[in-house]
Amino acid sequence: MSILEETRALAESGPVCDACLGRAFADRSFGLTNAERGQSLRIAAALDDDEPYEAVETETCWVCEGMCAEFDDWAERCAEAIEDVEVDTYQVGTRAPPLVEENEILLREGAGLPDDAGELFKSEFNREVGKRVGRLTGTEVDFTRPDVQFLLDLEADTVETQINSAFVYGRYRKLERDIPQTEWPCRECDGSGYQGKEPCDYCGGSGYLYEHSVEGFVAPVAMDVMDGVDAKFHGAGREDVDALMLGTGRPFVVEIMEPRRRNIDVERLEGDVNAMADGEIEVEGLRLATYDMVERVKKLDASKEYRAAVEFDDDVTAEDLQAALEELTGATIEQYTPHRVDHRRASLTRTRQVYDATGELEDARHATVEIHGEGGLYIKELVSGDEGRTNPSLAGILDTDAVVTALDVIAVEGEDEPFEDDEFFKN
Ligand SMILES: [Zn+2]
Ligand SMILES: [Zn+2]
Repeated sequence: MSILEETRALAESGPVCDACLGRAFADRSFGLTNAERGQSLRIAAALDDDEPYEAVETETCWVCEGMCAEFDDWAERCAEAIEDVEVDTYQVGTRAPPLVEENEILLREGAGLPDDAGELFKSEFNREVGKRVGRLTGTEVDFTRPDVQFLLDLEADTVETQINSAFVYGRYRKLERDIPQTEWPCRECDGSGYQGKEPCDYCGGSGYLYEHSVEGFVAPVAMDVMDGVDAKFHGAGREDVDALMLGTGRPFVVEIMEPRRRNIDVERLEGDVNAMADGEIEVEGLRLATYDMVERVKKLDASKEYRAAVEFDDDVTAEDLQAALEELTGATIEQYTPHRVDHRRASLTRTRQVYDATGELEDARHATVEIHGEGGLYIKELVSGDEGRTNPSLAGILDTDAVVTALDVIAVEGEDEPFEDDEFFKN
């Protein structure tokens, strides 16, 4: 059969709209909407058969039940749904009624076409409504990670709207001790702040083990500015609660769920966070980031430089300390999961490299050491030996007990300066 004979067969199946007609041939010509293609085929088929062309019948199309005439309405409903929400990109999905999908097959079978000839009804719907949404809202389609996703449920007559998260990247420094990176709910009251009807003794009723956290300074402020419903803090690793984080800081991404604002002034946000933190922590280099930045930050196993104050049980000479640090420089350390680390974590022995170890004695029992080690190296245990669970160790080499009394992270370094690549940012 020629395409015009096929067109006639489709058109004679009952009242069929131009879009449903043209859609069956969507894979055979390009550059037209299905409705335009359907109309021109209908005209050509009529001329070819020496019949007067009849415009589309006013009866409702039996295939789509008239839904192909409703693209504008659906687009307007989408636009209304995000009236107060700032988005740059969108994507439209359609849940087609099962009956229409069956009709599509019946239409094609009746004309001897393959069941899947042309294009799917829902694909046309996605595209046609999508184009109109873009025009109405001045936004662009994005098939990977749009700011907003619409799901048109044609049978239920609903538009579901999903606003995707926004992301802010930055680096933080922690300038005071006893600040965890993320909020740490009290284990006695499970974060409720209460034991029965009484305020929890353990946390003083705050629900948190520590009054402040890096997350607690950053996330609520970002959430507020972006007008989101929730926020999550993703750090590139974490330091101990009692360790300072100095130098250029540690990378993080804060994720804002369902934000109504996206293109915020990050410098102002930075100023607001720092004012709120009042010198306990500091953030810098804030930028609007893409979703991919979260994975990147979470996977970063950067090398780190630490400064540790160390106390010895026996007197140590400067020569012995230098010799021990030289022995540690370049050494491969075996570490069995430390006692103090979360017991739910599987215990295993792992090896980590010490790139450099230097230091100086303050007096016979005290020293300051600086260690540059591979990501994941436990510094407190490298010093103490953790009762033989870490080997070699500073205590082991010096043959005396040694303990870290203060620990600071002075640098977090990506292997290849990975974090400032423009492709991961939106501004
Ligand atoms: Zn139709
Ligand atoms: Zn509590």
